[in-house]
Amino acid sequence: MHTTALVLFSGGQDSTTCLAHALSRFERVETVGFDYGQRHHVEMTARLTVLDRLGQAFPAWGAKLGHDHVLDLAVLGQVSETSLTRDMAFQMESTGLPNTFVPGRNLLFLTLAAALAYRRGLQVIVTGVCETDFSGYPDCRDDTMKAMQLALSLGMDKRYLIDTPLMWIDKAATWQLAHDLGQRAQPGGGTVLTDIIVEHTHTCYQGDRTHRHAWGYGCGACPACELRANGYLRWQASCLQPVA
Ligand code: ZN
Repeated sequence: MHTTALVLFSGGQDSTTCLAHALSRFERVETVGFDYGQRHHVEMTARLTVLDRLGQAFPAWGAKLGHDHVLDLAVLGQVSETSLTRDMAFQMESTGLPNTFVPGRNLLFLTLAAALAYRRGLQVIVTGVCETDFSGYPDCRDDTMKAMQLALSLGMDKRYLIDTPLMWIDKAATWQLAHDLGQRAQPGGGTVLTDIIVEHTHTCYQGDRTHRHAWGYGCGACPACELRANGYLRWQASCLQPVA
């Protein structure tokens, strides 16, 4: 029986939904974020705000929330030159991957998360990787996660479970999942949670917090904004459909 979890929490829509998932399922939940010299520290601020708002709006979840850990991964900027860590324009590379791809980033995240989980006595590692809307990142694949789960369990001689609640759903379904989790947590909680996600989570690659859209803040033009906006609009459209 798994009762404790560590959530890879960036302060974005996906990891916030994963955190709600973990809080609805486990007795004790801790969070970990990685500071790897992102071009914008907006994310690091957003994650603290989201943790605070979630705990206040959902007292039962707040009681389960434990330590928030931030690990310094500035070393990523030394081994890779990408538009996430340097001041470069976003573009697709000849490999078919966007230049936001940091090779091995998720592998490193999971290894460090497992080491932290080992020390903190946490059984499940929850991450918002997704094959459905994934931007071609090979380290978000289900096969990669299964391989990591095995490698980490063998390498640390401890049985880890890597839980990926968003793996097979698209961004519209991610909004719906957040709504369902909030609603199950407390009456009216669905809208409370999606409102927190709209207002306080951050996804935009440009770090834009000046332009407010129905789906939240962002430049509205980068791939992350496009994905978030499209998902939100499709989710809203599906909410307007009469239930068969
Ligand atoms: Zn953007």
